[in-house]
Amino acid sequence: MTTLQTAFADLKPSPKMPALFVGHGNPMNAIEDNAYSRAWATMGASLPVPSAILCVSAHWMTRGTTLVNVSAKPKTIHDFGGFPRELFEQQYPAPGAPGIAEATVDLLQHHHVESSEEWGLDHGAWSVLIKMFPKADIPVFQLSIDMTMAPEKHLALAQDLKALRARGVLIVGSGNIVHNLRALAPGGKPYDWAEAFDDFITQALEARDQGAVANAYALGNLTRLAHPTPDHFFPLIYSFGVADQSDDLTFFNTGFDMGSISMRSFVLS
Ligand code: ZN
Repeated sequence: MTTLQTAFADLKPSPKMPALFVGHGNPMNAIEDNAYSRAWATMGASLPVPSAILCVSAHWMTRGTTLVNVSAKPKTIHDFGGFPRELFEQQYPAPGAPGIAEATVDLLQHHHVESSEEWGLDHGAWSVLIKMFPKADIPVFQLSIDMTMAPEKHLALAQDLKALRARGVLIVGSGNIVHNLRALAPGGKPYDWAEAFDDFITQALEARDQGAVANAYALGNLTRLAHPTPDHFFPLIYSFGVADQSDDLTFFNTGFDMGSISMRSFVLS
């Protein structure tokens, strides 16, 4: 037992918070003023102020367990290489949310979920939040992605996370709906397969068909082209998995970066 152990039942109820999926793309979006980063800023300003933000980022991958970061002061992790010094100098000093993070572990007790202080905020989280909530005054915590878990298990876990929306927590999945770094074509048009997969996901979202998204790898080659590895795909399952049938769905930042990165993002509210 630690002093931090907080039960989910102890969290105060709130009006239902929206849930977001953000296509983060190039880390440079964190310091560039471009159409994507401006849309993040607009979105952040339009949302009700959450009591905390739970981010499921493509860049925190674990194996055999799902970790929830319970740090009081999560460090800014510069998990990339070959970018300008200005990007490495960025800090996102938001506080952590140890109590809500421990309550999240409690909420997910039927899954293999543990608390941890080993991570902080990786660029999947902070590169977006630095534009969305530039004051860094809202507590943030991350949940890792267990790469050994099948998509339908991620969906089941996400569905159990949904209860956090009624406790003031803004759930943000950060990945990309299409993400193939081997096929990057700077200045190039989107590939046919990239548009086809983006369309498939868009239609599944519009139909509120969570199963179709969780089963996307059954499409075979199309999905393997869109996601040679599933790290940027899994956060989508979390954002969609916390949806209610009654939620409105709004897309933003639709379009492709460098031919093989879909920047399509959405809010459920
Ligand atoms: Zn990424």
